[in-house]
Amino acid sequence: MDDIIKIFKESDALLEGHFKLTSGKHSDIYYEKFNILKKPRLCEKVCAELARMFEDNTVELVVGPTTGGLIIAYEVARYLGVDSIYAEPADNGNGRVLKRGFNIDKGTRVLIVDDILTTGRSIVEVIKLVNSYEANIVGIGEFLDRSGGQVKFDYPFKALTTIEANVWEPEECPLCKKGMPLTQRGSRNFKRV
Ligand SMILES: [Zn+2]
Repeated sequence: MDDIIKIFKESDALLEGHFKLTSGKHSDIYYEKFNILKKPRLCEKVCAELARMFEDNTVELVVGPTTGGLIIAYEVARYLGVDSIYAEPADNGNGRVLKRGFNIDKGTRVLIVDDILTTGRSIVEVIKLVNSYEANIVGIGEFLDRSGGQVKFDYPFKALTTIEANVWEPEECPLCKKGMPLTQRGSRNFKRV
């Protein structure tokens, strides 16, 4: 779905500049995914596209990691006509857990969804959680894959689109060398791509 890049750009969810990421690294692209997730009409449209990719997988339950994945799981589940739950960080900081009385029955056909695949860490945590309930993971879906194909799963993985950003260690950042002002996350000094 090429339109997703357009939607990301037009909603300022995909920004170009010189950014300091939460990892401390610098990048020429920054994703403010909540610029899409905060817009129900837009989010609904993108989630429907995501849901359609898994329409033939007889999904029975959609699971997403907090926070963005919560919204996506809900919208995708609505499209597929099934339930959605979300995986929250464990209080001991070790992986993900189900809270709020959520449960997954053994053998349930689960679709895992999230917004942007980077390192895959939160998805791996959700996979581990879902497997602990002996459920049947039928797919993993993301809006964007920015892992550059580096992250692989043992389950069918589909993303609406793939995009790569340049990421550098601060001391190797060519944008720093050019003297381009560094934008901290949350700053308003963004320009559209
Ligand atoms: Zn830099």
